[in-house]
Amino acid sequence: MTRDELIQALIPERVRQGAAYQIPDATGMVKLDAMENPYRWPQSLRDELAIRLADCALNRYPDPHADSIRAPLAQWMQIPETLDLLFGNGSDEIIGLLISNLIGTGRSVCAPDPSFVMFQVLANQYSVPFRALPLDSEFDIDVDGWMDGLMEADPALIFVPQPNNPTGNLFSKDRLAQIVESTQALIVIDEAYTAFTDADYLDWAERYPNVVVMRTLSKVGLAGSRFGMLIGHPEWIVEFDKIRLPYNINVMSQTAVQFALEYASILEEQSGLIRQERSRLSSRLSERGFSVWHSEANFVVMDCGVHAARDLFEGLKQHQVLVKCLDGSHPRLTNTLRLTVGTPDESDALLSALDQLVAR
Ligand code: PMP
Repeated sequence: MTRDELIQALIPERVRQGAAYQIPDATGMVKLDAMENPYRWPQSLRDELAIRLADCALNRYPDPHADSIRAPLAQWMQIPETLDLLFGNGSDEIIGLLISNLIGTGRSVCAPDPSFVMFQVLANQYSVPFRALPLDSEFDIDVDGWMDGLMEADPALIFVPQPNNPTGNLFSKDRLAQIVESTQALIVIDEAYTAFTDADYLDWAERYPNVVVMRTLSKVGLAGSRFGMLIGHPEWIVEFDKIRLPYNINVMSQTAVQFALEYASILEEQSGLIRQERSRLSSRLSERGFSVWHSEANFVVMDCGVHAARDLFEGLKQHQVLVKCLDGSHPRLTNTLRLTVGTPDESDALLSALDQLVAR
């Protein structure tokens, strides 16, 4: 057999027909496409971290439980003692792990529509049925639509990003409670953007038997170290721990996260700056006639109105500003751009590029 024939025979059609996840090249750009924290650490702390990293035992496997991180993380996030933690190589890995648990069971997974794409991408990858749940005109939970969808799909797992990506809004607490109380599925409240909102659902993981909470350090300044967590009752965590790869958090990551937690006040300060900048950027865009959706996250969605989002996206790229074009990704996101909130200077670069593009 030729290699081509072998690939036809051995790689499933679903994989052959798919495409690798596309990450645009951002070299030299003002990078406002991926909800990262724009701030680097002071040089003195980077020097100190370098010493810690130099001390890592790279010849040994990492601590399989990353135990040195647990106490400081629980303290910083005020995680109740009754809850346990499972760590992932980014929350992406945890999403995959939770969905992979359903392989071969015939049970489905649900998430709002629109929402973070990885829920569906990973369900497809594992051939686990996926069902999108409708949002109302305010992108809030359409309770009747969800009840119908849940009745039909009978999911084992429901992801609810709180606030949602890419719309930036929080779902109403009472509607979410109605869903939690009426389903037998495990609800994963995905608080990826917890640093940028006052909402906090950790206590639901204690109160409800079918709720766990997922978080990540990616949005507060540690996207490069890939560190996410599932927070839940020990009886849930012990089950998921059985399907986690034993050394999924590498020693460099463990060291960097432990170090960052010693200086967590810096992460908090930076998140505070991003929150301030979110309102300044939103006002500046509104002043220019763009309609900006209210956001509880570190990004805002802008409706481009009379301008074409795709043209603005390409034009911004010419000005070395990279944002995310949502046009075409979902009917409700037509003609919108998602802008990560960066530093004030980065916003100014974005605004000045927009001014030049719309003046043409
Ligand atoms: N959940 C949501 C809602 C997200 O928007 C993202 C990243 N964009 C993630 C999870 C994944 O985060 P990470 O893998 O970096 O922890």
